[in-house]
Amino acid sequence: MVAANAHPALAREPKERIKDAVGMLYDSTVCIGCKACVSACKQFNETPSSFSSTDELWDNPLDNDSKTYNIIKLYKDGTGAAKDQEKDGHAYIKRQCMHCVDPACVSACPVSALAKDPANGIVSYDKKACIGCRYCQIACPFNVPKFEFEKAFPQIRKCQLCSHRMEKGDFAACAQYCPTGATIYGKVEDLLAEAKKRLAYKPGELRKYPVERVNGGQVTERIVTPYVMHIYGEKEGGGTQVLYLSGVAFEKLGLPALEETSDAQRSETIQHTIYKGMIAPIVFLGGLVYAVHKNTKDHK
Ligand code: SF4
Ligand code: SF4
Ligand code: SF4
Repeated sequence: MVAANAHPALAREPKERIKDAVGMLYDSTVCIGCKACVSACKQFNETPSSFSSTDELWDNPLDNDSKTYNIIKLYKDGTGAAKDQEKDGHAYIKRQCMHCVDPACVSACPVSALAKDPANGIVSYDKKACIGCRYCQIACPFNVPKFEFEKAFPQIRKCQLCSHRMEKGDFAACAQYCPTGATIYGKVEDLLAEAKKRLAYKPGELRKYPVERVNGGQVTERIVTPYVMHIYGEKEGGGTQVLYLSGVAFEKLGLPALEETSDAQRSETIQHTIYKGMIAPIVFLGGLVYAVHKNTKDHK
């Protein structure tokens, strides 16, 4: 009988959250759908307007695209009257790169054009290294990386957590310009603690909610509305650095139901197993030699 862990060396270990990882907490119950975060993202990342109507009079993307790293989408059911209610209600959802703990895009990229910063966990993109294969697009479980099909020299585009602003002491523009505190920025361990605190609040209580940064000092007071008792991103897909709270089921908001094992860990474990001892390449090479030999003989 083969022991369950007969090949422990082959399985790739799960990646741990980096201690000083930074990210965002988006609380859908606090969001008013004003899209100030969408405008701020465009302004500070210098991305042009994206049109979904033929008049092209205003920026109105329907989803994340190569010019839109951040978007607010709407869930609506029936009359849509009640906020944060599944039946006859509506809710907002913010979508951008999740800065995964163990990113599938990084694992899939054959030339390391996508990389995870070992200090803060931000997943960034290097246009000079990219060969345009778009494996990252296929690998991402959140459908985030977008390709500039419209350009002669296309790049992959996605949120890089405004890392270019951090050099000047700023932080994620979408969090900085959110007027309600629906999106806040900070260390992921502090954001997780804040999310857990909110889940312990009772609906109807008046509570203080941080604005812009989780530990930035600014707060707003609001009446707590009921939460789904789960922090999306704490464990999904191996964990993410962007976390979500909501009053409506996360699947209804379009967030995929993922297992706790990351796709990167699963696929790298399979690759390591197949390639152990170079068995697969040797078999493949043997097959090629046989095919060439047979074809050459047939031609003769
Ligand atoms: S959400 Fe997608 S693009 Fe962003 S880090 Fe995760 S796998 Fe990569
Ligand atoms: S962190 Fe920056 S790039 Fe990412 S969604 Fe927010 S504003 Fe856009
Ligand atoms: S700026 Fe804040 S409140 Fe307005 S849509 Fe964005 S996350 Fe929601």
